[in-house]
Amino acid sequence: MPSIFTKIINGEIPCYKIAEDENFFAFLDINPNAKGHTLCIPKKEVDKIMDLDEDTYMGLMAFSRKVGQAIEEAIDCQRVGITVIGLEVPHVHVHLIPLNGMKDATFQNKVSLSQEEFITIAERIKSRIE
Ligand code: 5GP
Repeated sequence: MPSIFTKIINGEIPCYKIAEDENFFAFLDINPNAKGHTLCIPKKEVDKIMDLDEDTYMGLMAFSRKVGQAIEEAIDCQRVGITVIGLEVPHVHVHLIPLNGMKDATFQNKVSLSQEEFITIAERIKSRIE
């Protein structure tokens, strides 16, 4: 059965999309640690990051860097942190989290956003990606 993230890539489940290329896809996390919390995923469905082939791993990091640079420009934060966990969704994803303190990195401090806020944040980030 396809992962929830494969369904997002295929447009079967809606998302606030940030970026896409041939191999990778970025969208806002639906339960964000902070405004602008974004997930970057390979289109290839693999559960664990250490099981990615080297090209996909390196490509995912390059794609995440590009998206992370746009987040740093678009969102008021000290820096963008990177985390990979994967205990909830078995499809590799890089968390890009705008950080203003350690609380934003803990996954215990969540922010609640309206649909309009998600749309505005996604537009702000998207507009900074070439
Ligand atoms: P992890 O697997 O790294 O523990 O966390 C999975 C992340 O995916 C969580 O931060 C969760 O909020 C996010 N997530 C789970 N389901 C969905 C979904 O359907 N849409 C979006 N945009 N994010 C999701």
